[in-house]
Amino acid sequence: MHDLQQSVSRRYRHCLSLWHWCQAAVGTTLAPRPAAAKHRQKAGRLLILGAMTVALREVFQQLYDHYGPQHWWPGESALEIMVGAVLTQNTNWKNVERAIENLREAGLLEFDALRSIRVEELAELIRPAGYYRQKARRLHNLLEMIHHRYGGSLGEMFATDPQLLRRRLLEVNGIGPETADSILLYAGNLPSFVVDAYTARVFKRHGWIEPEADYHTIQQFCQSSLPCDAALFNEFHALLVRVGKEHCGTRPKCEGCPLANLLPEGGPLGEDRQEAGEA
Ligand code: SF4
Repeated sequence: MHDLQQSVSRRYRHCLSLWHWCQAAVGTTLAPRPAAAKHRQKAGRLLILGAMTVALREVFQQLYDHYGPQHWWPGESALEIMVGAVLTQNTNWKNVERAIENLREAGLLEFDALRSIRVEELAELIRPAGYYRQKARRLHNLLEMIHHRYGGSLGEMFATDPQLLRRRLLEVNGIGPETADSILLYAGNLPSFVVDAYTARVFKRHGWIEPEADYHTIQQFCQSSLPCDAALFNEFHALLVRVGKEHCGTRPKCEGCPLANLLPEGGPLGEDRQEAGEA
């Protein structure tokens, strides 16, 4: 009985501290804090950067304070978001928008209609997104899986255990981890952290993760360092893409970057250190 009481007490303290941590990390509405520098707290998992220590939530907060909410992912329905997640592979969003507009005009942003169309016709409609034959086949594979496993119901699909659903998405030919996690997070509102090239680049250049860390390692790192919260994962990923596009491209532009104060001594790490870090 004593052991049980101790166990319950431990769990209660853990939940309570997690709750306080969540409040400190994201607030209830993800509202920006007015003066971030004055509100730094040292709760949460810490990233050890040699002499520098920073909480991952601090990274989020600095980005959020600088850019504000990103309102991701654009799309009027879960199906449209899912289609966008497949079409955005290896192209920019403007091209995806044109492809989705074609589908909308053809009345195909509805599950049964989209599944019924021939793959060749689908390919022509999504041609603006590039790699259109390959993407049409991938979309078709995905729709077939949803039809066979969930009777075409996205609601039923997203009510599945997220880990099981993730495995099933990854089994679809042409669906990789980034697309699967984008579908889970943005179409299904399920807390699965999306790691893209920008995320990996920012984390590695700051030394927050090993240079050879792969998708799975970075995702595990983020998910174990942050509260399990789809809204937080959604906003964080969108903010990382924003800072990646504006500052952290192939060659980092650290001047004026909202994460510049978190750089290791000597500038960004990695292959660009010589040219960028010492510029
Ligand atoms: S400070 Fe430099 S390395 Fe860090 S995110 Fe910005 S551009 Fe990239």
